[in-house]
Amino acid sequence: MKVLVINCGSSSLKYQVLDMDGEVLLAKGLVERIGMDGSVITHTKTGAEEKWVNETPMPTHKEAIQQVLDAVVDEDHGVLKSMSELGAVGHRVVHAGEAYSHSVVIDDQVMSVLEDCTELAPLHNPPNILGIQACKELMPTTPMVAVFDTAYHQTMPPESYIYALPYEYYEKYRVRRYGFHGTSHKYVAHRAAEMLGLDEKHLKVITCHLGNGASITAIKGGEVIDTSMGFTPLEGLVMGTRCGDIDPAIMTYVAEKENLDNDEIIDVMNKESGVLGISGISSDFRDIEAAAESGNERAQLAMKVFAHKVRFFIGAYIAEMNGVDAIVFTAGVGENDIGMRDIICDNLDNLGIHLDLIKNRVRGKEVIISASDSKVKILLIPTNEELMIARDTVWRVSLLD
Ligand code: AMP
Repeated sequence: MKVLVINCGSSSLKYQVLDMDGEVLLAKGLVERIGMDGSVITHTKTGAEEKWVNETPMPTHKEAIQQVLDAVVDEDHGVLKSMSELGAVGHRVVHAGEAYSHSVVIDDQVMSVLEDCTELAPLHNPPNILGIQACKELMPTTPMVAVFDTAYHQTMPPESYIYALPYEYYEKYRVRRYGFHGTSHKYVAHRAAEMLGLDEKHLKVITCHLGNGASITAIKGGEVIDTSMGFTPLEGLVMGTRCGDIDPAIMTYVAEKENLDNDEIIDVMNKESGVLGISGISSDFRDIEAAAESGNERAQLAMKVFAHKVRFFIGAYIAEMNGVDAIVFTAGVGENDIGMRDIICDNLDNLGIHLDLIKNRVRGKEVIISASDSKVKILLIPTNEELMIARDTVWRVSLLD
């Protein structure tokens, strides 16, 4: 089956076309500046020497999806003869609240659940919904599947997801830990079991998704038992521009001092904090590391604070699971930042965690980087959320037959 995977943001849209008989990527692309001047699609056919770039007005997501479909069947740059070759569309959707613990075929009831979850993810669910609606209009007979960032984390027990707030906030307003990056954590946890040749059901795994957004998840017997992101993707680890865990009283204290309203202080915590806030240099670890190497103390501090928080959660999750068999690094920093993996894994021998510093000198490849005597395996696994979405899409559509 050929599957189109759509990841729709407010003004941009990423897509891939995969042939799931063999899990081959046929094409991928990016639409930018939807609803603005200078809308542009950049389409890459696997194996083609050059990207195809087409600047054309796209006032809404419908025109953007139409451009994607045109590119996919284009005589020169396309990968399908006609749209009828497409078996299904898989949509990345951020938030399903407590409604779904797995992917679902999209029908009217699913759409109303997504609308209902909009207040939990006001920045993400609305463009996800627009993308689905546009696809439904342009491909009314093609099955659509929603794959949720929150779904994989729904196995968490209440002691992991209930906040110590008045319980009625959970009952009335659905305030609880949901967790995000679920598709990525699920993909790398499965791959880790495959690479180790072991059954997930017997494994305790900690997956570290360290990118611009960062989260860490404890998975026991194939089920998430805890994760660091919470009610929103602001909680947990230090990130590129997000603060992660802080004392909540800081919010009102700083807001009063700096004369900021609610939206402004939340904006500071989402966009001006994290390693950018500490270093004052950049949210990109490459810039921070370059500055740290040339002696910038705040850049050095930003790296140490980031690593400290990852180690803190690794320790906590080992305690929660009474051990760990494998630790996985993924996403931009996890896959590429050799030095950061060194710092995170440094001096954990007593926990049976022993990184091989030579094997660790690698970027963006599937590889085991722990020393041969390490009780805990350490793995580097590039994430592939699109493939996971396509797999889930095929699985849900096959259940329709
Ligand atoms: P992601 O959100 O997963 O796309 O990760 C993006 C982040 O990965 C960037 O902002 C960088 O901080 C980081 N990154 C990417 N490549 C490298 C690299 N070679 N070394 C260190 N950090 C990197």
